[in-house]
Amino acid sequence: MQKMMSLGGVLLFCVVMILFVSCQSGKTPGAVGTDGSLLGPEGIKEDYKNMVPPVGVSLIAGVGYKADQETLDKIKQSLKRFAQLLCSDTYGNMYLKKAIVRNNSKESYIHFEKLAKLGGHARFGGTFTVNTNLLDLDKRTGQAGMGIRVLGAGIMHEFGHSMLLLKDEYGTKRKCVMHPQSRTTTFCPSCHEELLSRFTNWKFPVQAKRADWLKKNNVPEPVIIIK
Ligand SMILES: [Zn+2]
Repeated sequence: MQKMMSLGGVLLFCVVMILFVSCQSGKTPGAVGTDGSLLGPEGIKEDYKNMVPPVGVSLIAGVGYKADQETLDKIKQSLKRFAQLLCSDTYGNMYLKKAIVRNNSKESYIHFEKLAKLGGHARFGGTFTVNTNLLDLDKRTGQAGMGIRVLGAGIMHEFGHSMLLLKDEYGTKRKCVMHPQSRTTTFCPSCHEELLSRFTNWKFPVQAKRADWLKKNNVPEPVIIIK
């Protein structure tokens, strides 16, 4: 009887060990906002700081007024630009997986609005707003595509607050997307340090340069659906 017990004990120990080992090695990449519940008006609920990269983000974006087809197309392009920036600025640790754009809706994680001033505003862990008036930069500067690029960088800046919990760098001399006047779309060394201390599983290449990284790595194409 005692022998049977000990045999049972050994078997139980083996099962526990197998489960433990498979949990350790079976780390699956993280996902913020899944197909069942995309990031929406309630902001970020997941505990995402310890997720294993690459962390895919799926979200709902809303245009807070009835936009015409041309504007919707430009918003789609600006989200694609944001997807490139997010993936390359984080060296593949986080990327945009899916965005559903709802016209004439405020029930969303990203709010596209016509703001009188500023490029946008955000709360740490909360939703954020970007200014679609930036799309008019094409006409003002005479450079086609300028508005899409600046709006894409504006989304990256506000996402930097909302998801990455980075502060504004206005008034500094840093070249960083968190300091829009520096006209830079990458993160500064100080932001890199902060990101690595906050996101415990993230790794950046040594002497990181976005252009070099982009030569060797592909940015996943996001699924963008306009409704
Ligand atoms: Zn910075």
